[in-house]
This record gives sequence, C-alpha cells and structure tokens, in this order.
Amino acid sequence: MKRRDVLKGGVAALAGSAAVISAPAIAQNKIEITMVATWGRDFPGLGTGAQRFAERLTTMTDGRIKVNYFAANERVKAFDSFDEVASGNAQMYHAADYYWKGKHPGWAYFTGVPFGMTASEINAWMRFGGGQELHDELAAEYGLKCLPCGNTGVQMGGWFRKEMKSAADFKGLKMRMPGLGGDVIAKMGASPVSLSGGQIYENLMSGAIDATEWVGPWNDSFYKFYEAAKYYYYPGMHEPGSQLSLGMNKKFWDGLSKSDQAIIRAAAETENCVMMAEYNAKNGAALASLIADQGVKLRSFSDDTYDAFGEAAAEVFAEVQQHSPMAKKIHQSFVKSRNEVGAWIKISDQAYVQQRNRVLGL
Ligand code: CA
Repeated sequence: MKRRDVLKGGVAALAGSAAVISAPAIAQNKIEITMVATWGRDFPGLGTGAQRFAERLTTMTDGRIKVNYFAANERVKAFDSFDEVASGNAQMYHAADYYWKGKHPGWAYFTGVPFGMTASEINAWMRFGGGQELHDELAAEYGLKCLPCGNTGVQMGGWFRKEMKSAADFKGLKMRMPGLGGDVIAKMGASPVSLSGGQIYENLMSGAIDATEWVGPWNDSFYKFYEAAKYYYYPGMHEPGSQLSLGMNKKFWDGLSKSDQAIIRAAAETENCVMMAEYNAKNGAALASLIADQGVKLRSFSDDTYDAFGEAAAEVFAEVQQHSPMAKKIHQSFVKSRNEVGAWIKISDQAYVQQRNRVLGL
C-alpha cells in the first residue's frame, strides 16, 4: 500500500473520533509571531529580557505560539519597531515607549518621566491607578495594544567628561537623553540627542556628544562609556523606574482567544518582575567593579542641580499638558498616583531603608 493510501485509510478509520475532531482545532490555533525589538541581540537585561519573554511564550504553549524574534537591525532599525508593528508587518515589539514621544508626548509616561515613579510605584499606577487603561487608550489611536514587560529600576544620571558641579554646567552640553528628560536638560541650555543604545559609544568616543545616560552600572559597563567619560552621576531624575513595553498590533491582539491573551499577559507580567530582579541583583557588583577596575568617579548631583531639574521639569510638564486633552489626562492621572503612592513609599520603603542603612552603616 502506498503511503498516501495509508494516510487516507487512517483518516477514514478515525473519522468521527475525538482524535480527528481535536487535531485540526489544535492546528488552527498555531500562531506564528514576528517580534522586533529596540535592543541589540543578547544585550544584557533589555535584550536578554525580551528574548526570555519570547522563549517563555513558546515554552508556555509547548511551541503552539512560536515567536520569531528579531533584535535591532536584524529586520528593522531600532526606532522603526513602532511602525513595523502598528502597520501589521510584525505582531510584537519590545521597546521603551518613550522612544515614541515625537508621535505623542503621552507615550513617555509609560516608560518613565522626570520626577516620575519608581518601579514599584509605576506598577501600582498601571494596575490600580488607571495607568493600563490610559496606555490602552493612547495605543489604540495607533493600532497598538501594550503591556508592561520589564523594568530597569532607578537609572543613573549619566556619564560626563567633567564634573557637573552646578546646573550651569549643563549649558551647551550635548547629551544623549531620550524622553522628556531630554526636554528638561534642553530647558537648562543643553542639546539633547536621542540615539539607540548601540549608537552611543561611537558618538561619545568621537566627541559628537559630550555626555550620555543609558541605564545603570550593569548595563553601562558593557558599552564601556568609561573609556570616554569618567564621571558617573546619580541619581537620574529622568528615568526613576523605566518600564519596558510589549507592544502588539491591536488587530492581532483582538483576534486572539481569551486564553491566549491570558498566556501573553502572564508571560509579560513574569518578565516585568524578573527583569527588575536581575537589575537589582547585578547593579551593585557592577558599580563596585567600575570604580575599582576602571577608575570611574562616582558623584551625586547637587541639591542646586536637582532644584534646577525640578524647575525645568515644571515647564516641560506645562507644555506637555497643552499638547492635547489626552496628554493632560495621562499627566494628571500619573501625578495623582505618584503623589498618593509616593506618600506611602516615603514612610514605608524609604523610611525603612534609610533607618536600616543608618543602623547597619550601609
Ligand atoms: Ca535611560
């Protein structure tokens, strides 16, 4: 008997049984996803976190949902990820949504804004303060659906060739700083530049920029910014808990079953937690190594500099709210949560850590 006859006979023999009914149903639910990212292949934390999410989604479904992952420049350039997914050419991106603030300033709030929220604070806003609903409303205008999918925690203030003793030192400074933080230093006389991670080192080495921020000690050490700038400042006012985003084509998302949506949510929630844990676990040792092995000089911004950041940020936020009713709505919801949650953090996490470290001499 020829092979195709065996197959024909097999199907006929099984006709009407549960096996035949369920097999095509499973086949129909196979989903192949093209995912792009704003991070280089295997870049620790951001890239590996996005790749870990993609692998998790495939593992959780025994390969039924297959994710074909493309790092920055493997399919599209980093900053073309938004259009690739909004247009439906790809189904998912992993990115920092503040990269899209040129399309609408509201996007910045779903990554991090100056004087914004820490990781635990933004988690509270997103889930219980109306943040996710506003992210949905904004994203829908662009044909997208986004979910939190990672967080870097508080970022460092950046790498500088000279000491930044006062706010005046920002005048004339060309600094890589995306998001609304860039607008804040522009008010202080600096020229902010937005570059993807992989472009920063060469621009810093060539002198095309004077300074840069990126993430924190663990991530920054891989890019070797210390070869061009030795002064490493903290804390960054511009990104106090940067949330990464899983952006999906909305038609793709709306067409999924409730169960597949729940699986994707769970995979993204897991990454949101795991990435933050990884940054906290690795930043301390990385900072110690930067100081001991690379001669990095750690400095904190002065109160005077921080006051100037605050004044400039107030001007930026006044302008953002004038952009559109949507921008104003997002800003006001964000501020309400920041102030409410922040008042609790002040007498809980902040007060406790301060006393613990004082008593233990940490
Ligand atoms: Ca950053």
